[in-house]
Amino acid sequence: MKYTSLRTRAIHAGESARAPGGAVAPPLHMANSYMTEADLSFSAERLTPDSPYIYTRWGNPTVSMLEKRVASLEGSEEGLCFSSGMAAITGLFTHLLGTGDHLVMSDVAYAGAVEYTYDLLPQMGVAVTHVDVSDLDAVRDALRPNTRLVHIETPCNPILRLADIEQIARLAHGVGALLSVDSTFASPVITRPLMLGAGLVIHSLTKYLGGHGDALGGIIVGRSELLARIRSRVGIHAGGILSPFNAWLILRGLTTLPLRMQAHCDSAMHIAAMLTQHPRVKRVIYPGLDSHPQYRLAQKQMRLPGGMLTFQADDGEKMARQLQRRLQLVSYAVSLGHVHSLIYYIGTDSIMESTFHLRGGGLTAYKDYAGEVFSAFLWGWRIPMICAATWHRRWANAWRRRTLNAQPLQWCLAGRCLSRLPPGAGSLLLLRSLAGSAGCPATA
Ligand code: PLP
Repeated sequence: MKYTSLRTRAIHAGESARAPGGAVAPPLHMANSYMTEADLSFSAERLTPDSPYIYTRWGNPTVSMLEKRVASLEGSEEGLCFSSGMAAITGLFTHLLGTGDHLVMSDVAYAGAVEYTYDLLPQMGVAVTHVDVSDLDAVRDALRPNTRLVHIETPCNPILRLADIEQIARLAHGVGALLSVDSTFASPVITRPLMLGAGLVIHSLTKYLGGHGDALGGIIVGRSELLARIRSRVGIHAGGILSPFNAWLILRGLTTLPLRMQAHCDSAMHIAAMLTQHPRVKRVIYPGLDSHPQYRLAQKQMRLPGGMLTFQADDGEKMARQLQRRLQLVSYAVSLGHVHSLIYYIGTDSIMESTFHLRGGGLTAYKDYAGEVFSAFLWGWRIPMICAATWHRRWANAWRRRTLNAQPLQWCLAGRCLSRLPPGAGSLLLLRSLAGSAGCPATA
């Protein structure tokens, strides 16, 4: 059955006509093998969409339901689940790229993905060009005849920079390359990259889609034919598949995704408005404010502005420590997109050294964007939406003057981050400092 409403699809897509025993909620199939026919081929290469279940590494009814549901939310044919978001990303890279191939990679993206493209892909003989994908000329210049894949994140972790999916897809197609979009920060409620020309979408299911901070998972969504090849070579043979139990938890979280995303966005807008009035805050970066450097693009390709915001503050490092001590509902931990409040602080110098390796213009562009930033993922359906856009213009000019002497700090916040939020708001808080003293080399 084809459902049109996103909310209905989040609950029903992928369901079989009638679950065993007439169960209304999806059953959890933990079996690792299935009774089958004597003459069935045992080769992964012979797997077809009609093949019966044989062994859970090949396919499992609970995992299949999740794959169909996320594919439906993305408006696509097929999904393929992995044990984590990173397993999905690296599975895609290793399947599509080999010796002599070229990857154009966003210079700022989830740290694990960027590090992989600096460390492991070159060892496999893959050439990688890291590029600021918000600059279309830079993307065009980076493309080569042997470019097979362009990989972007939008909004990107950790600075909320956006990439124009439609334009980058057009450029990639010009040299016969595929565009893959890590849409973890947006979720299918906000952006559907395949509708804009991307060839593949990746999600860390660990974040918004699961939404409860209790399961790791990843998915690639795209055309059936390509995914069938990735399933047999990466899923079945490399074996990093999703456990049915995690699939079941993520399916359960997914049912409320459209409602949660609306709540994340309402909370983020509320906090963006609150922060812009705070005397210690110099600048707020949030795709819902017209001061966001790519506000027009946000309006073009995002249905909602997202649950993440960043802000700059005077003496941010000190403020970060203070918040770490004082926030009552916030735990000091990595991750994002679920109902608990987390806080994390990391030095920008260290992330530059360990991960992004930006210098010169690239580093300046990063600092222009990140500055002293407080970024937030927010979750709370009881918070009213406040539109800060009208007075923000006046305020934005003031911060431009003040940030010239800014002490560099970047913070990322998600969920129930500020104790002032009413109950019902969930959060995650990540902190980063350009001044760079404390912290881990990367955030998850
Ligand atoms: N993609 C993005 C944008 C992320 O933020 C993360 C983790 O934070 C990942 C991928 C990796 O996901 P996982 O932790 O599920 O491997």
